[in-house]
Amino acid sequence: MKADYVIVGAGSAGCVLANRLTEDPSVKVLLIEAGGRDWSPYIHVPAGFMKMLDHPTLTWGYHAEPDPGTAGRAILYPRGRVLGGSSSINGLIYIRGQPDDYDHWAQLGNRGWGWDEILPFFKKAENWEGGETEVRGRDGPLFTSRMDRSPLCAAVIEAGKEIGLEYREDVNDLPPGAGDSIGWCQQRGGWWRASTARTYLRPALKRPNLHVIVKAQVNRVVFDGRRAVAVEYECGGSVERADAEREVILSAGAVNTPHILQLSGVGAPEHLKRVGIAVHHSLPGVGQNLQDHYIARVSYPVSGTPTVNERSRGLALAGEVVRYLVTGKGMMTYSASLAAASVKVLEESATPDVQCSIAPGSFKDGQIGELDDFPGITAGAWQMRPLSRGYVEAKSSDPREAPAINPRYLSEQTDRRAIIGGLRFVRRLFAAPALARYCGTEIIPGADIASDDELLDYARQKGSTVYHATCTCKMGSDQMAVVDDQLRVHGLERLRVIDASVMPTVTSTNTNAPTIMIAEKGAELIRRATLAASLAVNARAAWPASAGPTI
Ligand SMILES: Cc1cc2nc3c(=O)[nH]c(=O)nc-3n(C[C@H](O)[C@H](O)[C@H](O)COP(=O)(O)OP(=O)(O)OC[C@H]3O[C@@H](n4cnc5c(N)ncnc54)[C@H](O)[C@@H]3O)c2cc1C
Repeated sequence: MKADYVIVGAGSAGCVLANRLTEDPSVKVLLIEAGGRDWSPYIHVPAGFMKMLDHPTLTWGYHAEPDPGTAGRAILYPRGRVLGGSSSINGLIYIRGQPDDYDHWAQLGNRGWGWDEILPFFKKAENWEGGETEVRGRDGPLFTSRMDRSPLCAAVIEAGKEIGLEYREDVNDLPPGAGDSIGWCQQRGGWWRASTARTYLRPALKRPNLHVIVKAQVNRVVFDGRRAVAVEYECGGSVERADAEREVILSAGAVNTPHILQLSGVGAPEHLKRVGIAVHHSLPGVGQNLQDHYIARVSYPVSGTPTVNERSRGLALAGEVVRYLVTGKGMMTYSASLAAASVKVLEESATPDVQCSIAPGSFKDGQIGELDDFPGITAGAWQMRPLSRGYVEAKSSDPREAPAINPRYLSEQTDRRAIIGGLRFVRRLFAAPALARYCGTEIIPGADIASDDELLDYARQKGSTVYHATCTCKMGSDQMAVVDDQLRVHGLERLRVIDASVMPTVTSTNTNAPTIMIAEKGAELIRRATLAASLAVNARAAWPASAGPTI
């Protein structure tokens, strides 16, 4: 098997790349995905995401290592393993983050990654139902829409206003330096989930220059000296090789991309030797710098207005299904949260540092999954820019053995202060009259959990990932950077990483929209590099050797 570009992973980033690179009919692309086709109805109906978190075939079944930050628990760490990757199983929320997130990336020395420079790629990706504006796109493949607005979450927005938060009609139109605010979340899709498999890959499948292989797990990158020349993958019990005439692109996500690099002998030499992998190229940052958001939830019983809890059962559920099929509205279209507040709880922060996500339903034990038997509401608080840094590390040279994953949540004092501040903010929000009208006494963690120590202990005992694993192959030019600002792996040739792992720091809110933007920009970087190379070849051809050297 041979192609110009071999892309590893048909996830959020990989599908974007497959589409954009095959827009040029002369370019041949091979896309290799470990998971299968995206046929499950849970994928396509937005509310189905709750059924997929620990799905045996649609996810990798990962758990994070037990850690003091999670009170010794090995929490579930879902990653999509299917066409569309995590964009096929995630909570659908479309929020780009603060402009300052990207200006920070640029300040770290990453040329071309400041807000003004990446905004065109967010716009290029997007088909916003509200039409084109200065910050929103209309002609892209990715359909984005407003959430169907639950009356209970409307009360949350009113409560936010009552405690002094600014209301934002469009949470993706934040001016740089915006302060505390509340608004409705937006989603990818509406009636149906807009995964990148559906929006980018499906239209590109008609092109003869794209070939996709599913149920094929890439084990390692094959090198000829410093040049990546192929990948080795396992499919149907046999080991195959796919050659890349131009480049290998790793888009296997923030857990699997560093794992594949390590299995290929690219990483920290002491780690590789410890687990029995021959060192090919020393790059100590591979798998380090793991960043993720960590959420602790508060829930309340509700009366006097509908919640997901009672509408997910019996006749009410049947009614919701009919409503969904006929109108594309209602509970079946709800994503992970409907409203969100962005607030500053640390006095040293310049912009909001905690995101509070609100869902019109409550869960047993505060964990997303099984709903309480009574009507309820949940608000979760997570720190936007955690300082804790974790790792993804191969445990052995066996590609089938899951890597060690440890975000080391709450290992920094600032992060501990932020989660305590976030939980206190949630209580302040729910004490506002607009919400107090519907909500009873706090169920989880319960009003008796009041001191800082008790709140922190609760967060450790019951908190969970927001599923935003990032930064394990970070972009930059320091010792721990893995790729440069063109997303090329340092010290190697013809090898790029294009997925959530290249973020230098995690964006302040959800990570799917930023990953899709990274892939849009990555495709453009490749296109320009190819153009520059062919111009150089043409210039050399036009300049006779007898005329002396070119400059
Ligand atoms: C449960 C969940 C809920 C989330 N909710 C939201 C949300 O509501 N909003 C939001 O913005 N973000 C959300 N996220 C985060 C967001 O989805 C991710 O940040 C983003 O999708 C990462 O994209 P990626 O391309 O880096 O990786 P992925 O989309 O995970 O793609 C990686 C792909 O590579 C494949 N792959 C991996 N290893 C190999 C291999 N060895 N060989 C071949 N293929 C391989 C995988 O199977 C997968 O298809 C959520 C994530 C999860 C898991």
